[in-house]
Parts: sequence; C-alpha cells; structure tokens
Amino acid sequence: MSRFFSKRYASLTPYTPGEQPQDRKYIKLNTNESPFPPSARAIAAAAEEAGRLQLYSDPECLRLRQALAERYAVKPEQVIVTNGSDEALNFAFMAFCDEEHPAVFADITYGFYPVYAEINHVPYREIPLREDLTIAPEDFYDAKGTIVLANPNAQTGVALPRTAVEEIIRRNAENIVIVDEAYVDFGGESCVELTEKYDNLLVVQTFSKSRSMAGARLGFAIGNEALITDLNTIRYSNNPYNVNRMTLAAGVGILADRTYTEANCRTIVENRAFTEQALQELGFTMPPSSANFLLARHAAVGGETLYRKLKERGILVRHFSKERICESIRITIGTREQMEALVANIREILEETE
Ligand code: PMP
Repeated sequence: MSRFFSKRYASLTPYTPGEQPQDRKYIKLNTNESPFPPSARAIAAAAEEAGRLQLYSDPECLRLRQALAERYAVKPEQVIVTNGSDEALNFAFMAFCDEEHPAVFADITYGFYPVYAEINHVPYREIPLREDLTIAPEDFYDAKGTIVLANPNAQTGVALPRTAVEEIIRRNAENIVIVDEAYVDFGGESCVELTEKYDNLLVVQTFSKSRSMAGARLGFAIGNEALITDLNTIRYSNNPYNVNRMTLAAGVGILADRTYTEANCRTIVENRAFTEQALQELGFTMPPSSANFLLARHAAVGGETLYRKLKERGILVRHFSKERICESIRITIGTREQMEALVANIREILEETE
C-alpha cells in the first residue's frame, strides 16, 4: 500500500477472482465459464464492429436494450446494460444500500457481495443457510434492508422456486430485493416476469455463463422503470460508455441465436446429471444444483487436497476456504469429455489415498 492510498479504502479486502492461469493448458472447471465458444453470430457481429472502434459506443445501448426487452417481454426503459453483471450489482449497491438500508444476503453466496458493501461503505448482515446449505426463505421475510439473493445460489447451485422468491419480495415491500440470476438458464425459475408486479424487485443477469461471453463482460438488470432510472444516474456518473462496441454487437448477435444458447444449456444440464451421478457413485455428496456447477464433498479427502491434486493433474476446480464449504470443491460443468476426465482423475486420487 502506498502512503497515498485513501484511508477510506485502506481496510478493504478485495474480491479474489478464480485463477486464470496462462502457464499451461488446464481443463478449466474453476470459474463457471461456458465450455462452448460464443455463437458464430456473436463473433461475426463483434468482428464487424471492430472496424468502428474509433467511435465511442452508444451510451444508451439502445439496440441491445431493445433486443433484451423483446426477449424478456418488458419495455426497453426497464433494462440497463452493464460491464458484466458485477457492474450491475455494484451500481445496485450504490443506488439502493446505505445506513438505513443495509445489505442483507446469505452467509454462503457470491463472495463479491460483502466487497461491494465495503467499497460503498454500507453495513451488511449475513443470514445463515440451513444446515443442508439451502436457503430458508422465511429468514429473509421483513429483513429490514436491501436483500441480495443469488438464485440459483452461488457456490451451492441450489435454486428457490419463483413462488418462494415472490414471497420474499412481497414481505419486504419497503425494501429492494435484488435477485441475481447469473445461473438461472441452467434450471432456475426467473423472476423477470414479476418486475411488472413489484416495484421493489431488480433482476440481474449475465451473458457470461449460458451465452458463452464471460470475456466480453456483459450483464444487465431488469426492473421497474424508476429503479432503472436510478441505476442510470449512477452509471452516467461513473462511465456512460461502460459497455464497448464489440460487446454490444456480440450481445445482439447471441440474442438472435436463441437455439444455440438453449442447446448449450441442455448439454450442460445433461453433463451435470452425468457428473452428479458419477461423483455420487464415488462417495461424494452435494446439494442439488440448478446451475452450471456442483459443490461436492467427500468424507475421505478434504477440499483443499482434492483441489491441489486435481491441479497437479491439469484440472482446475475452485476451492473456498470459507467455513462450511472448505471441505468441498466447486466444479464447473464442462463438456462430456472434460467431465469424464474429471471423474477418472478423481477416481485415481481416491484410490491413491485409500
Ligand atoms: N453473480 C454471481 C452469482 C456470479 O457467480 C457471478 C460470476 N461468477 C457474477 C454475478 C458476475 O458475473 P459477470 O460479471 O461475469 O456477469
């Protein structure tokens, strides 16, 4: 830290992203990316747009907002486009959390939420998951703060049905409920349709997972028009050109290729079922996942050891040192071949340790 670093940020513990190693080629199952390339339409649109990079991007992101509005049956005024959904979440913390509206989220969820609370100097409260790592919806009723709910939940993959989320929204009418649907396309129930009915609901989604565009950095939020106006006040005060031209064009391209996204999601769901069963046969337990990852643990080998031994063998998974999940590894679902390689390597590691 330099002697010039502002006191306001000196105590900040930044978010630790998953490894993106450049040294060797891994089977990369650690950051919940898609194993499939972006749609050919997205690639072609981005390539064409590259020839116009001398010009700033459209600060209104109009074409993409229109395409999203059409896809989700809402008005373009209900949509904001951001640099990854991380940016939408940060804007939402800035806009909707303060001393009177502390952030409220589960103790095991996306690790960025406490960081967004800290960088924005807002207090936060964590609500413990049940023993089986599922969310108890009633614990979020009348939460007296801005709720941030990942659904399906990060790290566990467990999804709440839409009816349960709606009840949380209904029972917090005086507060905003941010529903982070980064993984919804792999088996969750989206709450986008509820944005019509509830003015305190903001749904955040991403192009990073089901749409194979993590490297393009594209996310969006859908809510009541007034909420989107607030988020735009924050956005225009930060960076009006927050999404670059190539990414905007790629986003329009992939939305026009819905069959590609849907086919990829189906494959991930199939590969998840295959992996879940194979790991269970090897003695693993895991919460039921509706996401593109599994949080798996084994009584005989710890999470850290599994992570390390897999890495030595060229397979990257994610390990968290957080209590309650430190004996698990989080495995992103990849192609069938990648999952077969994972299972074969885990089998060998288990045999070695016996
Ligand atoms: N929400 C959740 C629950 C996530 O797991 C992630 C990324 N891993 C994000 C949001 C952010 O994704 P992105 O910024 O790539 O859209």
